[in-house]
Amino acid sequence: MSRPLLMIPGPIEFSNEVLAAMSVPSPSHVDPSFIATFGRTLSDLRALFLADTGQPFVLAGSGTLAMDSAVANVVEPGDRVLVVDTGYFSQRMADICRRYGAEVDLLSVDPGDTISADQVATHCALIEYQVVTITHVDTSTGVLTDVRGIAAAARDAGALVIVDGVCATAAEEMRQQEWGVDVYLTASQKAIGVPPGLALLMVSPAALAKWRQR
Ligand SMILES: *Cc1c(COP(=O)(O)O)cnc(C)c1O
Repeated sequence: MSRPLLMIPGPIEFSNEVLAAMSVPSPSHVDPSFIATFGRTLSDLRALFLADTGQPFVLAGSGTLAMDSAVANVVEPGDRVLVVDTGYFSQRMADICRRYGAEVDLLSVDPGDTISADQVATHCALIEYQVVTITHVDTSTGVLTDVRGIAAAARDAGALVIVDGVCATAAEEMRQQEWGVDVYLTASQKAIGVPPGLALLMVSPAALAKWRQR
């Protein structure tokens, strides 16, 4: 069968197993067997994010919906947010935070350069931020960010940490609980390797607590 070859960061080319799974008749989304499948999906997500105590969410939508949901639920109007800006998707996160009423500072570098945990710590010592956002891999520049180091610096300064893992989850090392990331978000169509249409989030107990207080 002739078909176009898709050569973008995502949707990626699907494996034969994924293509085969898409060719079976659809079960009902309220069928008892779907409850078991969905439950397994949630526990598999905890294993993928390495977050035993995380609360997984699977929403019908894009990676940008996952970014929006993260911000809508944990960023309060007037919160100060530091965006670790490694490219286009970090700037999208900044736009979303501003739309929800946050005061946003960008810690920016030249395209292709990265930002160190020390730079973030220095910045967080000057201003009290409620939230720090990190793009794990910014697809526009290919920059891989030191999530472990930066999340530690942000948490030492008392901030919640949101990580956009859309281009990194299932490809780069990612240990949500150990690294102290509060909201790790991703989407189905990049390294996870299934069609677009699922926004995936894993939320820490601390982020859920902030949400409950609102
Ligand atoms: C692709 C991507 C997004 C946006 O995902 P969509 O599903 O296209 O909305 C967000 N962040 C990063 C880092 C991405 O690579």
